[in-house]
Amino acid sequence: MATKKAIILDLDNTIYPASSIGEEVFKNLFLLIEESGEHEDITMIKNAIMRKPFQKVASDFNFSETLTNKGMALLEDLTYDKEIKPFEDYIKVKNMAVKKYLVTTGFTKLQQSKVKQLDIEEDFEEIHIVDPKISTQTKKDIFKDILIRNNYHSEEVLVVGDDLHSEIQAAIELGIDTVLYNKINLNHNRNDLTTITDFGELYRFI
Ligand SMILES: [Mg+2]
Repeated sequence: MATKKAIILDLDNTIYPASSIGEEVFKNLFLLIEESGEHEDITMIKNAIMRKPFQKVASDFNFSETLTNKGMALLEDLTYDKEIKPFEDYIKVKNMAVKKYLVTTGFTKLQQSKVKQLDIEEDFEEIHIVDPKISTQTKKDIFKDILIRNNYHSEEVLVVGDDLHSEIQAAIELGIDTVLYNKINLNHNRNDLTTITDFGELYRFI
């Protein structure tokens, strides 16, 4: 493995646990879903919303068009204004002497407010929010762009995140090394991937 010049990090469930703010931040969305009467047990939907883009959840759980649109409208304007605490080991990646890039998917206002409440803006060279509502750009497009603009070879970059179907998949497709951050154990039985549960282990891969 070549020495890494840069780490591209995911935000939700990689820098902080989404569940720590989920009930609060999505309070009105959960209420909207309950009041729609479309779903009897919304526990699974709640869990999915804390882990995946709303558009994906709405389609997976067959939300009506009305509920989807109402949910989208609510989320587009949502912010989180209380303090958010990063995972206790985040400090270890923050202090690593490589350039860091934050690439996160979600609603622009909400993701921006999370970055602000986590107080992590200074930790990154660049912060990119992939917002499916306003752009067709994907994480893969952003990764490619970061590499080109900074003259990084794919071997010089490491992508770290918790989502197999998002940042990990995109990096694999681009030939970039990945580390799956499995802090909250969302992914099981993936012995084919490099997995860590603490950022202290990341030194071995840069
Ligand atoms: Mg994530």
